[in-house]
Amino acid sequence: MEQPLLNRSEIVVLQPSSLKESLKLLNENPDAEIIANASDLWPRIRNGEVKPKKLLDISGLAGELSYVKKDENLIKIGALVTVSQLEGESILKEKRFSGFKDVIAKFGSPQIRNVATIGGNVCAASSSEDFIPLLLAFNAKVKLSSVDGERYVNLEKFIIGKRKINRRPNEILTEISFEDPGEGYSSAFEKIGRRNTLIINIVNMAVVGKVKDGKIEDVRIAANRIKGKIPERAKNTEEFLKGKALNEETIAGAKKVLSEEVSLTDDFRASAEYRKALLLAMLERLLFKLRGEQ
Ligand SMILES: Cc1cc2nc3c(=O)[nH]c(=O)nc-3n(C[C@H](O)[C@H](O)[C@H](O)COP(=O)(O)OP(=O)(O)OC[C@H]3O[C@@H](n4cnc5c(N)ncnc54)[C@H](O)[C@@H]3O)c2cc1C
Repeated sequence: MEQPLLNRSEIVVLQPSSLKESLKLLNENPDAEIIANASDLWPRIRNGEVKPKKLLDISGLAGELSYVKKDENLIKIGALVTVSQLEGESILKEKRFSGFKDVIAKFGSPQIRNVATIGGNVCAASSSEDFIPLLLAFNAKVKLSSVDGERYVNLEKFIIGKRKINRRPNEILTEISFEDPGEGYSSAFEKIGRRNTLIINIVNMAVVGKVKDGKIEDVRIAANRIKGKIPERAKNTEEFLKGKALNEETIAGAKKVLSEEVSLTDDFRASAEYRKALLLAMLERLLFKLRGEQ
């Protein structure tokens, strides 16, 4: 398809070298589009979907925003951490974080993993972004920084629509954090697309939970679509599962609750019916994974 011509000289690019400078520039230029490593935004600029007059390029802040650390009981991930960086993080190698390994294993290509940032993934806020369900299942919150200070918003409240986020014009997402659920928990993620590599998912799903002596003590489930076109938690299904024995009967019951909880529509990638069948199959597989089965 012919690409619309892009006159780059018409775009003003602001390139701060520190967070402080970025926040000041964004405050003075609230109409600027934030750009991290551009793997999502640049294709959208090229195809004319987004027509920014100004870009605030925050890739120069990697020194400040590329950390993964545990602070008391919180896991904190800087917004500019790339998928490749996450892959090497020792904190995330524990069994309870294995959902990260699952996301990374199916994420784009090596080239994309080297640039795609976790902050960009969350702010892209579409049903194609694979970290969002996992972070929802970890009950993550985002830190938004501006010249006025910092505020924290639950990820669930941050993504308010397809490509719509609860970000004020002068704010930059600087960190994503979640409580370390602790020993005994595990997590898992799956996605299905039309092919095996470079997959834009038709369905993805993440679970975080604790199964002890065959009983589901705690579980959180999120998928790229439950009721709308954005990733959401499947809270009715979670409530049904909590406290029950993790066996075939419970899984059959959970699939029934999930099938009543979802409200999907057809689109060019898949019919609602197909998506629902995939979600139900995925739920079963992920619950077995929580029990330690592959
Ligand atoms: C070939 C290909 C394959 C891909 N495969 C996958 C895949 O398998 N799974 C998947 O989930 N995604 C995939 N993606 C999508 C993309 O790589 C991710 O969404 C990526 O994580 C975005 O990060 P980025 O730094 O490139 O963001 P950018 O493109 O720079 O920005 C994305 C959006 O977030 C905003 N933004 C970025 N950072 C911030 C911030 N700190 N504060 C506020 N706003 C911000 C930007 O304004 C923009 O709207 C793929 C993309 C391509 C091109």
